[in-house]
Order: sequence, then structure tokens, then C-alpha cells
Amino acid sequence: MDNTPASNFLQNIIAEDFDAGRVTEVVTRFPPEPNGYLHIGHAKSISVNFGLAEANGGRCNLRFDDTNPEKESQEFIESIQSDVEWLGYRWDGDVRFASSYFQQLYDWAVHLVEQGKAYVCDLNAEQAREYRGTLTEPGKNSPYRDRTVEENLDLLARMKAGEFDEGAKVLRAKIDMASPNMNMRDPIMYRIRKVAHHQTGTDWVIYPTYDFAHGQEDAIEGVTHSVCTLEFEDHRPLYEWFIDNLPVASHPRQFEFGRLNPSYTVTSKRKLKQLVDEGVVAGWDDPRMPTISGMRRRGYSPAALRKFCEMIGTTRKDGVVDVAMLEFAVREDLNENAPRAMAVLNPLKVVLTDYPEDKVEELTAPNHPSREDLGERVVPFTREVYIDADDFREEANKKYKRLVLGKRVRLRNAYVIEADEVVKDDAGNIVEVHAHTIPNTIGENPEDGVKPKGVIQWVSAAHGVPAEVRVYDRLFNHEAPDKGDSNYMDHINPESLSVTTHAVLEPSLAKAEAEQGFQFEREGYFVADRFDHSSDKPVFNKTIGLRDTWNG
Ligand code: ATP
Ligand code: MG
Repeated sequence: MDNTPASNFLQNIIAEDFDAGRVTEVVTRFPPEPNGYLHIGHAKSISVNFGLAEANGGRCNLRFDDTNPEKESQEFIESIQSDVEWLGYRWDGDVRFASSYFQQLYDWAVHLVEQGKAYVCDLNAEQAREYRGTLTEPGKNSPYRDRTVEENLDLLARMKAGEFDEGAKVLRAKIDMASPNMNMRDPIMYRIRKVAHHQTGTDWVIYPTYDFAHGQEDAIEGVTHSVCTLEFEDHRPLYEWFIDNLPVASHPRQFEFGRLNPSYTVTSKRKLKQLVDEGVVAGWDDPRMPTISGMRRRGYSPAALRKFCEMIGTTRKDGVVDVAMLEFAVREDLNENAPRAMAVLNPLKVVLTDYPEDKVEELTAPNHPSREDLGERVVPFTREVYIDADDFREEANKKYKRLVLGKRVRLRNAYVIEADEVVKDDAGNIVEVHAHTIPNTIGENPEDGVKPKGVIQWVSAAHGVPAEVRVYDRLFNHEAPDKGDSNYMDHINPESLSVTTHAVLEPSLAKAEAEQGFQFEREGYFVADRFDHSSDKPVFNKTIGLRDTWNG
């Protein structure tokens, strides 16, 4: 995989670790909590973790950080695995679960109690907050801090046995209530939660916190470089404290990089869940969602997402990345790889009055202007064709390079035609254009020297395939929908979806497979929808326009 070491400070750290003999193999992990679908930020984390392993001949684990059973589910576990695979990465061995280490973690908790380094505390949440102090004031020791080892062992065993109510007791590490780092002020290691767990059922009524679990999980798996985002920087001393104070088999180290925050986007599973739960979007995989499954359904390819993650680099700064960079990567990829096809989104019938009624010419059209390997296809030409209503005017100035009454235009891959008259309904709307073909103009200019103004797409009326086309725009109309005082729910773009049910596609598109992407000439990039079977017509989703129309 293409991972440019020079641009990546993590790769530099790894190179130094190899040089200094600190590691002989690189082991990383991607540790999602299965409480939602993965989003673009996770794609970045996946590309960093799997990318570092790949670039160094190492391994990367997929580990579900499943320590909060209430919010987690099997559905999320499955979607996460399929998203990682779709991005093109393969984890080492089986999928791993934090929950499969619960017994080991508990044994280590007992070990800390035995060493006098952990205690059971009865302060309720409100009291605990008071004792904790603030950023400017030290905390106070809990009155339960000096319980004996015996008493703590007994209470911890009874917590595990389910004798106490939720919130009645917690297990805390005994570190330093005056530490300037709030995370070191006797952090919680275990809470009582009387809920079933999707993996361990009702085996446990106490669950470890992220802080007590994560580093030890890394140590169990022999992770060498535990890469996470910057918000965990202040947790690193605690990560190290547990590793240093437990008889773990290996000493992983934590490194942080800046979160990816694309503009016009929210990247928080909680917020994305709200969009789903409140019906703002049709589901986690709605093509407007910044989820991996949404982007997949929108027609973004794994290669484009990987390219984007590489383009933006990996640094120790949190910052906003212009979403246009993502769109650029998507457009570049499609421009290079998407076969061309013709589709008319807003059909207007053109009758070629000189062309015989029952004649069908099977014209061929290249699938790509520069890639012969993508082959060509047959496009039937007939007396009646559809063009886009926007591509015709009764009168227009010279700047309008499409069909005008009395003027010529080329039908893409076919004849030059000249418009003769319009047919209108009682209300004065144009319902049909009558035109004629200019002979011998397939691949040639007209013999009389009167060149066409431009080239437009068309579809045979007799052979065209009716289709539904969903045109998507950005979900948020605010650059930073969830920053500062902004409430992202107030910045939903009301025009993020428009549906055209009367589009007509060239016949070759009827065979398109789900997820196959195309450039509809002059319209943009579109993808055959992956899931929708509600319509009796084929459904295509607009991936992106041909040009960046947001930045002019
Ligand atoms: P969310 O806020 O969406 O719930 P999270 O950080 O809680 O995200 P996890 O499932 O815990 O989600 O994340 C798994 C990994 O993905 C973590 O290592 C996390 O740091 C990383 N990650 C999450 N969001 C981003 C992001 N925006 N940019 C880069 N990495 C991210
Ligand atoms: Mg998290």
C-alpha cells in the first residue's frame, strides 16, 4: 500500500524504534466501539493503523472495544467488519473483543487491590465530582481510600457477584488526588452495570472502563504501537500507569494523531445516530451520510477513500479538512475509472422527421475517452430520441452551445441534427421538437461546412430505460455544523435530496450491477443503488458532479 513514510510522523517513530531495537515487529490495532456505524474519521484511523502495519510488514488487529454493553449491538459489529473489509484491509487472525479479556482484566484488578493500588469507593456520582477538584484545584481523598486490602477484596468480589446496586460502588485506582492531570485522580476502573452484554450475556454485572481496559488489551495482544486520536493524550499517563503496575506480558506504547474533521460534516457516532433516529436520513447507509456504508452507497470507491486519507496526511494537529478534498479524490478516481454512458434526466422528445420509423442503427460508443481497456458499447439510434429539456431553446444567444430552433447540435456518438419546429401543448409548454438529421455526420462534420454548436447526450425513445435518479447534495449547509454554539440539527440542508422519477437511460445501463459507477455524460457521476428494491425501475444515486460547484 502507498504510505509515504516521510509525511507521517508515526512512521518516523516506528523507524526509530526499529533502529534502536525497541521492536522487531510492528503490531497495531483498530479498536472501534460497536455502538454505531463507522464514519469517515474511522476510515482515517483504519488507514493509519492498517497502513502502518502494512508498510512495516507487521500486523493489525481488529478489536471491538465492547465495554459499554447498553449502547452496543451485533448489527454494529457486523457492519464494522464489512466496512473494514470493503476498504480493502484484512485484520490479523480472528476478530478480537475486549470482552473476551474480561476475566483477565478482573484478575488484574484484584492484583492492584492486593498491591494496595486500587480500592472500592462508595461515593455517589455527585460526591465523587466534588472530591475530584477542578483543573485549578486539587481533589480530596475519598473517605474510602484507606480501606484495607482484605475489605477491598471482599467488596470487589461482592460487586462482581451482583450484591450491590448500580452506582453504589466503584473500583478506583489509588494514584494521586492532587495530580494536575484529572485522569490520574483515582480514576474509576470498574462500574456496576446490571445489563446483559452482546458477547458475554449475563456473566458480568461489573464492566471495566475504557482506561482500565484499553492498554491491557493492547498488552495482551502484543500491540507495539497503540495509535489513537489526540483527545486521549491526557490519558496516556494513566495508560502507562496501569501497564507499569501490572504483570503484563508486553509494554505497548500509545501515540496520538489529530482527528479528521471534514468541513460540512459531523463525525460523531452519537450525532449520526440522532440523524438516523429522527428520520433526517433514511438510515446509517443513506448516501448523504459520512458513514463508510453511506459513502459506499453514494458511489465513493475504497480507492478514493484511501487516497483521501493519504492526501490529508497524519499529523499531531486537530483541524478541519476541506470536504472538497474528499470530493476531489472521489472525482479523480471516477474520472479515471468510471465508464461513460448517456442518461437524460429531464426528457424532451425530439422527432427526427427525415429518419425512417422502423429503422434502428446500432452505433458504437467508447466507454471511456482515454481508456481503451474499458471497451465500447452499442447505442441504438432511432427516429425518436430524448434529449434533456435544458438542452433545447427556441431562441438563444451565441453562448448557448446546445440545440436551438434553426440551428445544429451533435448528438453524442451519433448524428448532427438541426431543429425545425416545436410542438406545444395548450398551455404553451414545449412537448416535442421536430428536427432532421444531417446525412453522413457520424464521426464527420457536415459536408456543407455548417458545424454544430455543441454536443449533447440523448437516448432512443424506443430503447431507453425509465429510471429513478436520486440527486444528493451536502447534508449540512454550514461549514462547521457542530462547532461552537452551532446545533447541527439546525443546519440540515433542506435540499440535500431531490428525486427524479422520469429519467431515461441508455439501454446498456439496464445491466448495471449494484454499486457500479458511471459518468452520465454532461451530468456527473452516478452509481447503481445497492439496496433499493422499492422501485420497479432501476435506481441510480448521484455520486458527485463533474466539477466542484461549491467553490465556484
Ligand atoms: P465517535 O466520536 O464517532 O463515537 P469514537 O472515537 O468514540 O468516535 P471509536 O469507535 O472509539 O469511536 O473509535 C475507534 C477508533 O477510531 C479510535 O482509535 C478513534 O480514535 C478513531 N477515530 C474516531 N473518530 C475519528 C476521527 N474523526 N478521526 C480519526 N480517527 C478517529
Ligand atoms: Mg470512543
